[in-house]
Amino acid sequence: MSGAAEIQKLVIASGNAGKLREIRHLLDPLGIEVLPQSAFSITEVEEPYCTFVENALAKARHASKSSGLAALADDSGICANALNGGPGVYSARYAGEPKSDERNNQKLVDVLRNQTDRRAHYYCVMVLVRHADDPQPIIADGAWHGEIILEPRGEGGFGYDPYFFLPDLGKTGAELPMELKNRISHRGKALARLTECLKEGAF
Ligand code: IMP
Repeated sequence: MSGAAEIQKLVIASGNAGKLREIRHLLDPLGIEVLPQSAFSITEVEEPYCTFVENALAKARHASKSSGLAALADDSGICANALNGGPGVYSARYAGEPKSDERNNQKLVDVLRNQTDRRAHYYCVMVLVRHADDPQPIIADGAWHGEIILEPRGEGGFGYDPYFFLPDLGKTGAELPMELKNRISHRGKALARLTECLKEGAF
């Protein structure tokens, strides 16, 4: 099998506007047309697994099956040291249904308020399948380390970004320009690794 040249169109198995923006920006240089799953009326699939990689694979398979295209899925979340890696795979719905960044952030801040260790990292797994039954998915991951602060800062990013502080930069994820976030973030690292695999024809 050859590599990236084989894939001209890709459906992104996500309805999250923030993720879509970042992934599209990252894949642009590869000349791959990126379509959101909403273009195929693909509904969100269950994410019943306790690992990021299993959930990402389920999302990629579902989007590929429904669209007939290659599909790229990302499963990601924030993992706090004091919570043994939680909320982790439950990050999107940490404060319950319906999904709400505002309530999720409030819950995380409340839970960590009296903890001395507020270190946390974002983690992301990217899975790309050429077709729903692809026996050889490309899997790449990335982590981004920081700490949770109690007051929000910044207007950019999405999700937990206003509370995710990078001590080295003196800024939160929401205070970074998208170019910089994409270079250093969990998603940026995972996608860089994945595109390396594509370029090498590991696929
Ligand atoms: P998923 O759609 O199941 O992968 O949920 C990921 C959730 O993790 C999002 O809804 C956010 O709450 C959080 N998350 C993942 N990546 C980021 C990020 O880059 N910034 C802020 N929150 C993120």
